[in-house]
Amino acid sequence: MVSAIILAGGRGKRIGKDISKQFIIINEKPILYYTIKKFLECKSVDEIVLVLPKDEISYCKEHVLKKHSLKVDKIVEGGKERQDSVYNGLKVLSETDIIVIHDGARPFISESIIDKGIECAVKYGAAAPGVMPKDTIKVRDKNFFSKETLNRSELVSVQTPQVFKSEIIKECHEKIKEDNFIATDDTMVVERYGYKVYLYEGDYKNIKITTPEDLFLAEYMLKKDSKNLY
Ligand code: C5P
Repeated sequence: MVSAIILAGGRGKRIGKDISKQFIIINEKPILYYTIKKFLECKSVDEIVLVLPKDEISYCKEHVLKKHSLKVDKIVEGGKERQDSVYNGLKVLSETDIIVIHDGARPFISESIIDKGIECAVKYGAAAPGVMPKDTIKVRDKNFFSKETLNRSELVSVQTPQVFKSEIIKECHEKIKEDNFIATDDTMVVERYGYKVYLYEGDYKNIKITTPEDLFLAEYMLKKDSKNLY
């Protein structure tokens, strides 16, 4: 059995809008609509848990789920940090084998990337898609001077879905909670406790909508693909 946690428990302040970014409308539908729809259409996913900010659960039920006839299996409130939101999602999942964790703010996910993640997680325990950074990446010192240039061919810009065997991700989230350590994603959570994450080829289109510029790009991509995708 495969379960998915769609994370939309943050507010996305970097986008500079009044509403939380997952509810921003692009091409007549909220960003979160596109993400949920992709998972509903994915044949290998058996269960979907949606994580939302506590005070926006009823808004989302009304304006995203009901309005666009989307059905998820469970809704749970998010936490302070991303990993708290994942933890809350893990708590309400059914007994399952594989857990797929995806950012609600990545609506351009494809079925093939989800399926590849599931396949790799079955084989290696933990997997995530990634792409080579397009820019040269440097480490900067505290005086704003470059300290080091990293070898781009060894770098991976990691995306979601991040996919795990159920027992691994549950064990690591329990541990990190006890440790009081904040990780920026789930690959970091499992690495901390010695698990290796298999990084497979992601997709440059699978962007996380984060800043205002991303909205233009998202709008363009949705318009271009609307006939095929949605
Ligand atoms: O903030 P960032 O864009 O990195 O968040 C990635 C995803 O995690 C978003 O879809 C966001 O809604 C979610 N998130 C969450 N709970 C938080 C913070 C972020 O579910 N406390």
